Amino acid sequence: MAGYDLIIIGSGPAGLSAAIYAQRAGLNAVVLEKAGVSGGQVLTTYEVDNYPALPGINGFDLGMKMKEHADKLGAKFEDASVLAIRPADTAADAAATEAAGGYTVVCDGKSYETKGVIIATGAHHANLNVPGEAELQGMGVSYCATCDGAFFRGKDVAVAGGGDVALEDAIFLARICNKVYLIHRRDEFRANKALQEALKQYENIELVLNSTVEEIKGTDSVNALSVKNKLSGEVKDLPVSGIFIAVGIIPDSDAFKDFVDVNEKGYILAGEDGRTSKKCIYAAGDVRSKALRQIVTAVADGANAVTSFQEDVL
Ligand code: NAP
Repeated sequence: MAGYDLIIIGSGPAGLSAAIYAQRAGLNAVVLEKAGVSGGQVLTTYEVDNYPALPGINGFDLGMKMKEHADKLGAKFEDASVLAIRPADTAADAAATEAAGGYTVVCDGKSYETKGVIIATGAHHANLNVPGEAELQGMGVSYCATCDGAFFRGKDVAVAGGGDVALEDAIFLARICNKVYLIHRRDEFRANKALQEALKQYENIELVLNSTVEEIKGTDSVNALSVKNKLSGEVKDLPVSGIFIAVGIIPDSDAFKDFVDVNEKGYILAGEDGRTSKKCIYAAGDVRSKALRQIVTAVADGANAVTSFQEDVL
């Protein structure tokens, strides 16, 4: 069959790890990247302190190191926005499909033939879905503290959420802002214990627990949040210049949902070997159904998916 051995969709840690393993295995592989920038979510992470051997590394630097590693091994990258994967449909390809997978990856304006596909498209941030959020995006509403935090130097801001990202954002912002309100809907954080301990060192972080953001207020820019205490029912305005929303992630699986099995949240169902419901189609990284979404598990997924492909095809 003409075309590639393996197409890797996405160039975050899972995709780049897969590219490294594919190159070392001598596979004819290509990485399709949507944004034209490798690294995925890690690029906007200020500090990564749980990637072995690189304590405290900046997320952008880590992403670039992974890309350089893949480049050094000769990995091939192309800009392409993937719309769908479908079984290869030419007569010549039918036998290959039967024997070893065989797929057409349909992109915006072009398509690729391949024996196998690793879907490593990652995930994107969720919205709060409250009045003012969409209207004031970029005018005080942000989803990336490391990208936009510097605009709020010396000001009062809020972070919404209680996971790793929310606490990382609150700590990052506490270093540059006057005051940070950390608004969480429960009184316990989902974030790891190390971050919860680190949070206590910052006197300018005020916890606003059991509370939800009801509205983001302002005309040309954010000037207040309407916040409701779920226990007392009290609603009050918090005067802030910005809000950083960190309420979780949504898998980027829309293009594949009708082709491979996904769970109720849209994560692609696959075990640690990456194998999905379709032969020679694998899921790796944050888009895969799994318990722990970390950079270190994403890179492991990339390696496992390539190894599974080799077992299934070669
Ligand atoms: P997350 O762990 O899913 O946390 C989302 C937080 O937002 C939760 O505290 C949740 O509250 C809250 N939330 C969800 N919907 C909400 C709503 N509508 N209104 C108010 N609050 C809402 O998401 P994340 O922090 O973005 O992290 C995503 C994944 O990346 C996680 O698996 C995390 O471990 C991983 N991560 C890894 C690293 C690393 O490897 N160094 C760094 C950052 C993140 P509840 O707690 O009440 O559900």
